[in-house]
Amino acid sequence: MITVEQATEYVAQYAWPKVPQSVPLEDALNRFLAEDIFSDLDVPPNDQSLVDGYAVRATDFSQRVFREKGVEGGVELEVVEEVTAGNVPASRVESGRAVRVMTGVRVPDGADAVVMVEESSWQRETGLPLGVVHFNTREVVVGQNIMPRATSVRYGQLVLSCGKRIRPAEIAVLAQVGRTDVRVFGRPQVAVLPTGNELVDGGFVPGPGKIRNTNGPMLIACGRQLDADVLDLGIGRDEPQQLRNLIERGLSADVLVLSGGVSAGTLDLVPAVLEELKVRQVFHKVSMKPGKPLWFGIAGGNKDDSNDDRSTLVFGLPGNPVSSFVCFHLFVRPAIRRLCGQAAGEAAAPKCSALLAHPFEVTTDRATYHPAWIDWSETGPTIAPVLWHGSGDSRGLADANALAIFPEGARYYEAGQRIFCHPLD
Ligand code: AMP
Ligand code: MG
Repeated sequence: MITVEQATEYVAQYAWPKVPQSVPLEDALNRFLAEDIFSDLDVPPNDQSLVDGYAVRATDFSQRVFREKGVEGGVELEVVEEVTAGNVPASRVESGRAVRVMTGVRVPDGADAVVMVEESSWQRETGLPLGVVHFNTREVVVGQNIMPRATSVRYGQLVLSCGKRIRPAEIAVLAQVGRTDVRVFGRPQVAVLPTGNELVDGGFVPGPGKIRNTNGPMLIACGRQLDADVLDLGIGRDEPQQLRNLIERGLSADVLVLSGGVSAGTLDLVPAVLEELKVRQVFHKVSMKPGKPLWFGIAGGNKDDSNDDRSTLVFGLPGNPVSSFVCFHLFVRPAIRRLCGQAAGEAAAPKCSALLAHPFEVTTDRATYHPAWIDWSETGPTIAPVLWHGSGDSRGLADANALAIFPEGARYYEAGQRIFCHPLD
């Protein structure tokens, strides 16, 4: 049986970003950039004031002559202009003078520092057109409260790289460099098909032998959480003809996610139907717990052509809800992320380490993914496996915000021991 790492590698070999498309900036959130973004301007465009205050010459604060005039030996300067947001200064700051400036305004020529308005008082009735300003500070250094031109971004600079996920911060940068449209990778369609004769819709009370379909809604939600375009195929029965019809519809999508029917039971028909429909099996069964019966294959397309995105990645997830969830998180999610255009090295399920909050014993012959709770404390994360009754226990999964990883082999883990885990969204 192959390992989780080998299975991850196999899936990655078949998952390629979709063909890029142009979208308006307002639709770009959560998509992945399909182009490098360069700046069309300097930010800030000039030496800019960082505060509301007075543009001055720093040397005026170290020269006695301006100090003596002021209140209690403070500095006093004539105000020659006031520049508010959206305007540019017309005057030059000469010795003995100041220009009142608001945050973001260009620092006038001649000035080399800005003193905050909070460190001053403005006296307007002096006979001078804009009065004088008294400063209650003498500590003024060259460059204070000034952001030099192009400190944040220089014209022509690469500001965002291809493959980057567009979050609100990236939207801000795109808006700043004047992008109203942006090229992003296409949005994959993900078809979801839970299978099983025992399944009833959530709106019904299950009769004898029946259970509610939990995987369908869960997997649809998993797809939506990744911003995929989800195609809900309803419930598949353990009946070859109906299964064949539904799977055929699902093969029009970029990814088909089935659940149930992939183990060794009498009515586990999924692998055979997939084979009949010419879906090429890449692997079946992975050494992990839960999730061992996982089936993965590929349909259509030309697998040797990385620009060919007409193939369908087909995942047959085991039927138990937590098995389905864990397999989705470890294998389907990275594949969808990659199709969405995320860089190859970043698409894998995020992993971190944490210290065990209490001792834990596991007896396992396969790598085990145990629902757990990570506490992101200030001194570093700790992790506590939650009470969980195995692959059918979705309730236990809802208490978790991570999957704790316990490698194969029976072991006793001490409190405080460092283990790896996958944080969950
Ligand atoms: P299977 O992989 O089809 O043998 O299913 C394994 C177990 O998962 C069985 O107990 C099924 O009843 C259960 N199961 C399968 N599909 C679902 C589903 N969509 N929702 C909840 N449980 C399921
Ligand atoms: Mg079944």
